[in-house]
Amino acid sequence: MDRIQMKTPLVEMDGDEMTRVIWQWIKDVLILPHVELKTEYYDLGLKNRNETDDRVTVESAEAALRLGVAVKCATITPNAARVKEYGLKEMWKSPNGTIRAIMDGTVFRAPILVKGIEPYIPTWKKPITIARHAYGDVYKNTESTVPKGGRAELVVTDAEGNETRQLIHDFSASPGIVQGIHNLDSSIESFARCAFRYAIDTKQNLWFAAKDTISKTYDHHFKDVWADLYEREYREAFEKLGIEYFYTLIDDAVARVVRSEGGFIWACKNYDGDVMSDMLATAYGSLAMMTSVLVSPTGAYEYEAAHGTVQRHYYKYLNGEETSTNSVATIYAWTGALRKRGELDGLPDLIAFADRLEDACVKTIEEGTMTGDLYLLSKLPAKKKVNTREFLEAVAEKLA
Ligand code: NAP
Ligand code: MG
Repeated sequence: MDRIQMKTPLVEMDGDEMTRVIWQWIKDVLILPHVELKTEYYDLGLKNRNETDDRVTVESAEAALRLGVAVKCATITPNAARVKEYGLKEMWKSPNGTIRAIMDGTVFRAPILVKGIEPYIPTWKKPITIARHAYGDVYKNTESTVPKGGRAELVVTDAEGNETRQLIHDFSASPGIVQGIHNLDSSIESFARCAFRYAIDTKQNLWFAAKDTISKTYDHHFKDVWADLYEREYREAFEKLGIEYFYTLIDDAVARVVRSEGGFIWACKNYDGDVMSDMLATAYGSLAMMTSVLVSPTGAYEYEAAHGTVQRHYYKYLNGEETSTNSVATIYAWTGALRKRGELDGLPDLIAFADRLEDACVKTIEEGTMTGDLYLLSKLPAKKKVNTREFLEAVAEKLA
């Protein structure tokens, strides 16, 4: 059989534990029989990150910027236990954090919907993609307790040394707490740019929400930066595609999201995105069915599953016990990357393959063959629980 040819290689970022096992199986069982896969391979497994003093992570992110499309396996973010388990030279930083900082990107998360696994919100018929701003606000804060009788002021010193002072609070009646947060125009603009671009790419409406009625300078500034950029650079493209950019208050957005049918992108400030992405993942059913893509403002894409390395299943696997780990989000990381590569390189066969592989996953589950996590959730009358490998083989059969 003639395999589909590629032009530019994908950046392949291998990872850890159960997802590393699945990674190889996905390639062997689902991709290599059909595609003459070209990748630039980076081993982000913890052992190799340690051996390279984590340079491999940096190099992989630089490669993603250079080649434009990457696919990443879940990786361990080391903690004290992992330092011991792997005999690490140091507690290396989160690879996702490193990659995000280098690509300066925004993360978009979208659920994969299948019949039989119904969202907790019955009106949701299509995926809601959430985009979270990944810089600043309360995640880079300075905070303090204030004793009774204290005073807190906001002091801004400009480049010439001129000070502007504002009283935050006079704590003469009671002790209390105070917090300073910031953001940057450059970061807010990057965030907006990634979101506008992603909306155009996926032809979906884009919502953005903040609390500008209460925060008349800080949150209002987010609103203004987005609005200016939209008018200047994106309105025309949006109108041509018949999609819309829509700003509203965060509380109004939450109410509208719950009443909606889905099928749009919801851009959130850092804290809102942190909270709402967990709400959406749970409401759609399963973290194992959540995809994630990091988009840089220059238009480079890094696709991955939203879940981790599924450590508990990996230890069972190492013991020779049967596992039933869901590979769907990792398969979708591959299809997302292959499709994007196909779009950028003008390879319709590669795009069609990505579509067919996704269809095969969805059909396999909708016809009743699924891993244990979905077996517990599915309302299908006839369903069968299969192990990790059997699921991939069932998808391969559908694909053929
Ligand atoms: P996790 O790997 O997401 O798994 C947590 C639990 O969720 C699993 O034990 C399993 O539940 C269920 N689960 C997650 N993915 C599943 C799948 N594909 N199929 C079936 N069940 C699935 O999170 P974790 O155990 O907290 O973290 C493990 C490691 O992953 C950590 O070292 C962490 O640093 C890393 N991590 C990496 C990323 C990333 O690279 N993007 C993200 C998050 C975490 P049951 O055990 O009940 O079956
Ligand atoms: Mg969260």
